[in-house]
Amino acid sequence: MKRLFLLLCFCINFLIAQQTDAVDFKKAKADIVFGDLTEKQVSGTISYEFKILKNVDSIYLDAQNFNHIEILNNKKFRYNYNSKQLIIKHRFKKGDTHQIAIGFTAQPKKALYFIGWDDVSSSAVENQIWTQGQGKYTSNWLPSIDDMNEKIKFDLSITFHKGYEVIANGKLTNQQTNDSTSTWHYDMQNPMSSYLVALAIGKYNKKVAYSKSGIPLEMYYYPEDSLKFEPTYRYTKQMFDVLEDEIGVPYPWQNYKMVPVKDFLYAGMENTSLNIYSDSYVVDSIAFVDKNFVNINAHELAHQWFGNLVTATSGTHHWLQEGFTTYYALLAEKDIFGEDYYYWRLYEYAQELKTQDEAGQSTSLLDPKSSSTTFYKKGCWVLHMLRERIGDTAFKKGVKSYLKKHQFKNVNTDDFITEIEKASSEDLSGFVNKWLVSSELHYNDLKKRFFTHKAIVKTKNGIKIDSTASTSYYPINCEGHEQICKVFLLDSNDSFRNAKIVEQLGEEHISKSTFFTKDIKTRQAIAQTLTDIPSELKTDYESLLNDKSYITIEIALFNLWRNFPDDRTKYLNQTKTIIGFNDKNVRILWLTLALITEDYEPIIKQSTSKS
Ligand SMILES: [Zn+2]
Repeated sequence: MKRLFLLLCFCINFLIAQQTDAVDFKKAKADIVFGDLTEKQVSGTISYEFKILKNVDSIYLDAQNFNHIEILNNKKFRYNYNSKQLIIKHRFKKGDTHQIAIGFTAQPKKALYFIGWDDVSSSAVENQIWTQGQGKYTSNWLPSIDDMNEKIKFDLSITFHKGYEVIANGKLTNQQTNDSTSTWHYDMQNPMSSYLVALAIGKYNKKVAYSKSGIPLEMYYYPEDSLKFEPTYRYTKQMFDVLEDEIGVPYPWQNYKMVPVKDFLYAGMENTSLNIYSDSYVVDSIAFVDKNFVNINAHELAHQWFGNLVTATSGTHHWLQEGFTTYYALLAEKDIFGEDYYYWRLYEYAQELKTQDEAGQSTSLLDPKSSSTTFYKKGCWVLHMLRERIGDTAFKKGVKSYLKKHQFKNVNTDDFITEIEKASSEDLSGFVNKWLVSSELHYNDLKKRFFTHKAIVKTKNGIKIDSTASTSYYPINCEGHEQICKVFLLDSNDSFRNAKIVEQLGEEHISKSTFFTKDIKTRQAIAQTLTDIPSELKTDYESLLNDKSYITIEIALFNLWRNFPDDRTKYLNQTKTIIGFNDKNVRILWLTLALITEDYEPIIKQSTSKS
């Protein structure tokens, strides 16, 4: 899927290189209405203003499989439509500016999704419409330009049934309500690539916070999820302020909207000023511990600069989007969760890269066919190393001038390196060759420079990580050092490291009650590691059922049920009101266990008839 998309991009870019030389589309104004929703009908008009850059006899717009498409009220243009493109014929003269209005009707198979409308069992409250342009092409529902090198100022007006929220790119400037419909007018001030055009329609409430710089942060949620609002959007304002400060360039759009949707294809999508994300990230405060929106939100927010303000010219430079957003999301998380978390994640990224390398699948960061692991994780590492090398000041100065110089335009890797070299007065060709061009991972260099700075030192009170050493992550290897690791575990409050140590020690060494006194993540690692529960740890293990983590409760319930058959009723009674994540993980396990627990039958019957 990923591979196919990149190949397609490459071919289309090649073809369109000629079109962007010939014409510059400046503004688009679209009026969108919906027909029969069970038939997925969308129609409307879109008018474009464009400037001719050289004499040509035709230009085109992408429009995939439309039912109907025509040029309105303009006799000077001839046109034909071949199910992929609307080809507009005219003796276009260099320097001229034209307006064109297009009427269309479509039943898109992708990029615009109708959720629930054709399902009679689905209530109107649950029905939604939302878009996904990247990888799918907006031209499946709106005549537009697939090539991301064409940036256009899009203003959308959308008419829909009254009572639904309609959300699109930019700022809501006006809303007119008639008997049964509302028309929502959204305005954009700056241009963007067509894959970032978006809308979402559904039943929502919203709350608005403001960033330190005064940007409205509009947080949407389902009316029934008011209790999940705080945990879902926890840290949103803090992350926004951190990223604006860290990047050094003001947030480039009028507002930042976050909208959860059903059945989303990805975790989140960074449409300009409109982050559409999977509602599986809408969480209560217990689920927050194991799964939350923080990283996804930070990642899509970082895209508002890296991807939307400056957009890669082609798949070759994809890391300028995904590597940067992975890195900046991690910086935002470092501000929230601390340095240990930051280095822990970097360490994990390096392990993923190492696994890929050992499978013989390492590729250059500049290879458009690279895996997500390379684009996201290696890209992130490259920026971390680059900053370590040239220092904070030069790094921030370089990033800032790169964004300023190329804002609302397209970029390649040279554009970035040029600004970093200027800011640091360093020749980075060696760095670029080793980490960007070469397909080799150079894992040992990573390891030597970033993972081995800290030492375990003996103190009067036990064993500690040398706090005077560098702050880089130190992976603890417990093989053959089990005793040291156990002493360290009892002494340490670093939950990320402790969890890793528990995993390495394995069940035979998790033999002490005192291990259960550690934090929630360490206790979760114990639940996952210790599956055959010794009777002397039974009480400690039972206490895991009270942890505020749906993963821990699910594992502990299963292991206790399996290990202690005489107490099954007790464990089931204790957990019968717990639902778990949005996928009901605890509830589903509970129902399964209740069904196969013989003497629990009367209660299960009563309970299932209710649920
Ligand atoms: Zn991304």
